Amino acid sequence: MSLIKSVIISILNNPVAKGISRIPSVKKLAFRYVGAEKIEDFIPKMEEILNSGYKITISFLGEHYTDKHKVEGYFRNVINIIEKVNNYQNISVSIKLTALGLSIDYEYCKENVSKILNFSSQFNIRIHIDMEESVYLDDSLKIFDYFRKELKYNNLDITFQAYLYRTLKDMEDRIFSYEWESKPLVRLCKGAYKEQFDKIFPNKQKIDENYYNLAVKMLDNIDKVYPAFATHDAKLIEKIKSYATFKGISKDNFEFQMLFGVLPDVQKKIIEQGYNLRVYIPIGSEWYEYFVRRVAEKPSNLFILIFSLINKS
Ligand SMILES: Cc1cc2nc3c(=O)[nH]c(=O)nc-3n(C[C@H](O)[C@H](O)[C@H](O)COP(=O)(O)OP(=O)(O)OC[C@H]3O[C@@H](n4cnc5c(N)ncnc54)[C@H](O)[C@@H]3O)c2cc1C
Repeated sequence: MSLIKSVIISILNNPVAKGISRIPSVKKLAFRYVGAEKIEDFIPKMEEILNSGYKITISFLGEHYTDKHKVEGYFRNVINIIEKVNNYQNISVSIKLTALGLSIDYEYCKENVSKILNFSSQFNIRIHIDMEESVYLDDSLKIFDYFRKELKYNNLDITFQAYLYRTLKDMEDRIFSYEWESKPLVRLCKGAYKEQFDKIFPNKQKIDENYYNLAVKMLDNIDKVYPAFATHDAKLIEKIKSYATFKGISKDNFEFQMLFGVLPDVQKKIIEQGYNLRVYIPIGSEWYEYFVRRVAEKPSNLFILIFSLINKS
């Protein structure tokens, strides 16, 4: 994460700045990236997206809860989403562990994940752990290992972030050196959080290089992993496609993932070329922190945001 991204995140997450979330034009801008406030309202659009050949992962918005009532609300919403989408093909549900209590108590979070996995496994729907700030990484990996390796919940998947120096070792230790009953889907993203600078690669070029190296490692270990390349970076996508072709890996053995509302034309092209593409769709009313990360990723969004603030309607 560059300095400019960190600064944008710090400024917009300031309690005073958060007040802009009540301005209708800002909310309208945010809903370019958010499916709907309620899953029920999104079902027709979801069917349209699925019918066009995309896969979907639905994520209920919420994170960093320190209040158990909030965690319970998030938990009920995840269960509701599973109930509403379980009879569709090609859908998974993404979860955030800090919304399930990881910032309150590790065991409490584990209990909540356990209930979600129990419920989801009756329907055969996949549950995907999003990755958050690196202070939660060890606990997140422990939770993944416990449910995936010890309890054999084969519907549980995980995310890794290419901006962290440690990710290659984590992937080697946790993913490539394990004899899986059924391969996990591993999402590789660049990483979206404000981090300490000694933990992450210093600039975009180095992060991109590490992303590609990790992607190559995943494709080299295709018997151990189903890679999900979560990026909008056209150069990286082309390099990954070329390497997969060079290795003779069929398009069915991996997927690309992109965020709802980001570069829809590029998403369509990837589908037309016969690759799998999964769209990450956030649902819910707590969209502000998610939106701030999207603004930080694309500085031109900051100008659109300022323009929205000037036209407060
Ligand atoms: C499916 C999915 C799941 C993710 N899950 C996680 C997660 O669990 N944990 C985590 O830390 N991060 C997650 N991320 C976010 C990720 O880490 C990056 O912050 C984000 O994807 C931007 O990086 P990029 O790979 O697209 O490359 P960048 O180099 O940031 O962008 C490449 C190009 O994509 C376009 N672009 C990127 N973002 C936007 C935008 N907001 N609006 C318009 N155009 C844009 C621009 O043209 C840009 O030049 C996820 C991303 C995706 C796609």
